[in-house]
Amino acid sequence: MTEVLANNSATDTKPENAASDLQTAWIARGKNVLMNTYASFPIVLANGKGSYVEDVNGKKYLDFVAGIAVNSLGHCNDEYVKAVSEQLAKLVHCSNLYLNTPNIELAEKLVEGSAFDRVFFCNSGAEAIEGSIKLSRKYAKEAKGENCTKILSMTNSFHGRTYGALSATGQTKYQNGFQPLVPEMETVHFNDFESLATVDFDTVAAIIIEPIQGEGGVHPADLTFLKRIRELCTEENIVLIFDEIQCGVGRTGKFFAHENLGLAPDIVALAKGLGGGFPIGAFLATEKIASAFKNGDHGTTFGGNPLACTAALTCVNKIKQSSFLETVHKRGQLLHTLLKDLQSKHVAIKDVRGAGLMVGIELDQPVKSVIGACLDNGLLLVGAGEKVIRMLPPLTVSDDEIKSAVNILSSAVAASCRIEQV
Ligand SMILES: *Cc1c(COP(=O)(O)O)cnc(C)c1O
Repeated sequence: MTEVLANNSATDTKPENAASDLQTAWIARGKNVLMNTYASFPIVLANGKGSYVEDVNGKKYLDFVAGIAVNSLGHCNDEYVKAVSEQLAKLVHCSNLYLNTPNIELAEKLVEGSAFDRVFFCNSGAEAIEGSIKLSRKYAKEAKGENCTKILSMTNSFHGRTYGALSATGQTKYQNGFQPLVPEMETVHFNDFESLATVDFDTVAAIIIEPIQGEGGVHPADLTFLKRIRELCTEENIVLIFDEIQCGVGRTGKFFAHENLGLAPDIVALAKGLGGGFPIGAFLATEKIASAFKNGDHGTTFGGNPLACTAALTCVNKIKQSSFLETVHKRGQLLHTLLKDLQSKHVAIKDVRGAGLMVGIELDQPVKSVIGACLDNGLLLVGAGEKVIRMLPPLTVSDDEIKSAVNILSSAVAASCRIEQV
């Protein structure tokens, strides 16, 4: 870094240029050594506080991505920093050969008042899906027979990048180049119960659904569709898995997204917002399903370590409070109302949808230029597919921050979209 600074001061006298060269230099260094898997935005982030992050040049951004629905308490929340720092100095890791107290407390807190009895902790969303698939197959083989192995997933879904999760993902763009995939995984049409008409349910171990599809473009599942799937799974003894990795942990204004629906799955997978930025995933299951796992059936070295569980416990303790969830709900309503208002002013905005603080804004054109203009004006947004902008602010976002974000978006839409309505 000192070398870069020295080079800059040699070629540039203006401080802003020197600073912008610093970021450019970091980007070049990253391109040199990192695998070419991300089309990253051209900024390098250095720190954050609340709903704001700052790049290495000191430019501030209002963060309506929150690390893709991860920084649920915002950046560097005081309580979070204190709790994690204290645990860091106490015990970071001990493996699952031994129990640890944050792990047990977190599991208790997660199952309390829920439809689930037991928890398995892992380190990411994909791992939570892998574990959910393994548990479902183990259960189904024992309950329904050796041939009962099929996992049904939905078109347009996203479940992660590891082989099991990738194979269950209903979008070929993520799978191309990686075949052969895990066998006995089939896709049926999202929100279309009739597409299940030809399925032999005797061979189906599990059905996996995101209550609100995230990466696929912020598409909520129809309640009638979910109700019929729930009935089918109960009748046919099929494990119903909800992937709430993105929409769970308070994002919709309820702790679990399915609490908005009046029905519950047999397994729920969580990750993203659970650790507030610290990597942790989990899947929760009813006693009936969880009992299929016996000693040695599944495991992880890092999963459920005291540091990760302390981070998650700090988030969950806060988020599970009804006053906190009520505020998320209200902020979500404000965001939705302001965006609907924006839609009435810009014909380029085709739809505003989602729940709570998980919102998709569908345009009649690719969203890239709008997201780019917002970035320039100090607002971080992310796409979900080609034509959908996603807003996933920290759950602690304020009314004023929501208003600022919508104002910046409004200007960007006005500047970047082809047709303007007067
Ligand atoms: C992000 C995501 C995953 C994968 O999580 P990772 O932590 O990236 O492995 C799975 N399902 C959904 C719905 C997601 O949004």
